[in-house]
Amino acid sequence: MFAENQFKVEIIKELPEDLAITVYRCGDLVDLCRGPHIPNTSFVKAFACTNASSSYWRGKAERESLQRVYGVSFPDSKRLKDYSDMMEEAQRRDHRKLGQKQELFIFNPVSPGCCFFLPHGARILNKLKTFMQQEYWERGYEEVVTPNVYNMSLWETSGHAANYRENMFVFEVDGQEVGLKPMNCPGHCEIFRHRTRSYRELPLRMADFGVLHRNEASGALTGLTRVRRFVQDDAHIFCRESQVKDEVEGVLKFIDDVYKIFGFEYELELSTRPENYLGDVETWNRAEHQLKEALTASGKPWKVNEGDGAFYGPKIDIGVFDALKRKFQCATLQLDFQLPINFKLTYAPEEQGKLERPVMIHRAILGSFERMVAILLEHYGGKWPLWLSPRQAIVCPTAPKPESGYNKEAILEYAKEVRGKMHKAGFYVDVDMTDETFNKKVALAQAAQYNYILAVGPTEVNSGEVTIRVRDKKDQALSTVSVDDAIRRFREEVAAFQ
Ligand SMILES: [Zn+2]
Repeated sequence: MFAENQFKVEIIKELPEDLAITVYRCGDLVDLCRGPHIPNTSFVKAFACTNASSSYWRGKAERESLQRVYGVSFPDSKRLKDYSDMMEEAQRRDHRKLGQKQELFIFNPVSPGCCFFLPHGARILNKLKTFMQQEYWERGYEEVVTPNVYNMSLWETSGHAANYRENMFVFEVDGQEVGLKPMNCPGHCEIFRHRTRSYRELPLRMADFGVLHRNEASGALTGLTRVRRFVQDDAHIFCRESQVKDEVEGVLKFIDDVYKIFGFEYELELSTRPENYLGDVETWNRAEHQLKEALTASGKPWKVNEGDGAFYGPKIDIGVFDALKRKFQCATLQLDFQLPINFKLTYAPEEQGKLERPVMIHRAILGSFERMVAILLEHYGGKWPLWLSPRQAIVCPTAPKPESGYNKEAILEYAKEVRGKMHKAGFYVDVDMTDETFNKKVALAQAAQYNYILAVGPTEVNSGEVTIRVRDKKDQALSTVSVDDAIRRFREEVAAFQ
């Protein structure tokens, strides 16, 4: 049937002898395909070709080069138009473009997949980190700092050597094989077991902003969404089996609080025991029951993916929707019965002479900071809210008329003084020192996404004030206030966000 197509023949030849092969027919076309196909092409109402590129057969550079054509189809042209508009908006918001425009980060072939964060990008990363640290403070997490390089023996205990080795950077030190950590968990298990633990210490919530490395294929690296070096807002909760519900409820609340601040919608899915599970069924059942209780207590709708859990424990998947309704996976909430066994973790319960095994919960809220910066950049379309903004305000001097009694230098001096006060109060403020016209300065400041523009001229110098303009409003009521009042307003706005 497919003799005219060498590629289909190649696929067929590789299939087992006894396998039934399915084909699909659509008019004259008979395709080697799992299906389903639409019955005929009259169902295609609106169609667009979105992309065409050459690609190697089976992704192998030594094989034939083929053309790959991408297209989308919708039941009507209105929906196709909505989709195209959304894609255009997504392209305008592409974090790689905005990141370059806002001078947030760069990549360099000397270290593929590893981001160089520029000063303004680092400001955002640091804000996100301090934000998480404040949350940890209130929610009873303790931060730890752990090594990057571990002897391979640790990865053998954790199971990474057997299952994850090809994704790790492995090298030799002092004749011994070592690996850069792709995850923090094994290090946290070592901290847990470095001395005897009592039930009184549980739950133990261990947070880590450690640097992780994963050896992603170079072809898969794209901007900040797929990188080799990244940092997570990672934490592991070691708890008793009976504490799972409360802990999971706490994490779900944490996720809800944080995502509200960002303006993310999200959905919750529980993945339950797969066929190839480890451990005993009762433990799984009890844990899944607690997860369901916690999900119900969250008050959010949730659904079950039967049998979709990891072999070492059930998990809750959190799908986040950004402003363009695109779905991402950022947060993690994964129960683990296996790692505590691998690392022989125990604690002493109430009853003397006995030892019990803790349950481990892997959890992250933001996921990787790098990816979150990309998602937020696109979500906000580059318009950072004040608390996260790397450019919170710029002081723009107006050109003084000669009769005002002030010259340019005097106004600029005052502008720097204002900037000094705001800087001291902890805000990222710049001064426009160019000779552009005032209107041009404002336009440039708006394009650079400064949240506020503080105009100063002879009147402001006289009264010790600034005139505040908001970034995005077209017809705005300008307000002239003292520098201290401006600082107070900024502080209030920042506090309202968190
Ligand atoms: Zn983990």
